[in-house]
Amino acid sequence: MLTNRSKVVVKKEMNFWERIYLPAIFGGVAVTIKHMFRRKTTVRFPEAKREISSVWRGQHVLKRDEKGAERCTACGLCAVACPAEAITMTAAERKKGEEGLYREEKYASVYEINMLRCIFCGLCEEACPKEAIFLTDRIVPTDFQRNDFVYGKDKLVEKVNERIDVSVRQTPAVTEFKKHKSLSHNR
Ligand code: SF4
Ligand code: SF4
Repeated sequence: MLTNRSKVVVKKEMNFWERIYLPAIFGGVAVTIKHMFRRKTTVRFPEAKREISSVWRGQHVLKRDEKGAERCTACGLCAVACPAEAITMTAAERKKGEEGLYREEKYASVYEINMLRCIFCGLCEEACPKEAIFLTDRIVPTDFQRNDFVYGKDKLVEKVNERIDVSVRQTPAVTEFKKHKSLSHNR
């Protein structure tokens, strides 16, 4: 015997009630009936939607500035910060006449996030010095093919006339930080 915790297992003879199984069956049915009258913890998704937190970290958006130009400058900091290596991008130089399209001289000609890799941690949002990427309250929809979960700029960049409000993610601490222009890296 290696320890004093060993236990001798004895096969106990069943009594009359145990042998007819009826008490155990009624006990099981009673548990089922009790659960039928309890508040349900599931919802009939997608007909019914569960209320989610206002700062839920869902599908990303690549923001445009107030004039409609893409804010992302393809610096790659979000990709470096991403623990899941879900972000890839290709940088390109802005050409003359494209000032209205891209805010900075460098922009992302390709920007992709693999939603199957993403763990929605929000580190890309925190790392971005240009306030270009935010997580939103939108849920990434289901799909059938793995490739369809790689979201490109067509799905990530907000439409000029359909802006996505991310102000709710600007917590009091973030807003307070932004008041100090000397600390701002996005002047
Ligand atoms: S939310 Fe996290 S895991 Fe998803 S892309 Fe951003 S940094 Fe990567
Ligand atoms: S989203 Fe932000 S951090 Fe990522 S490449 Fe663009 S500017 Fe850089």
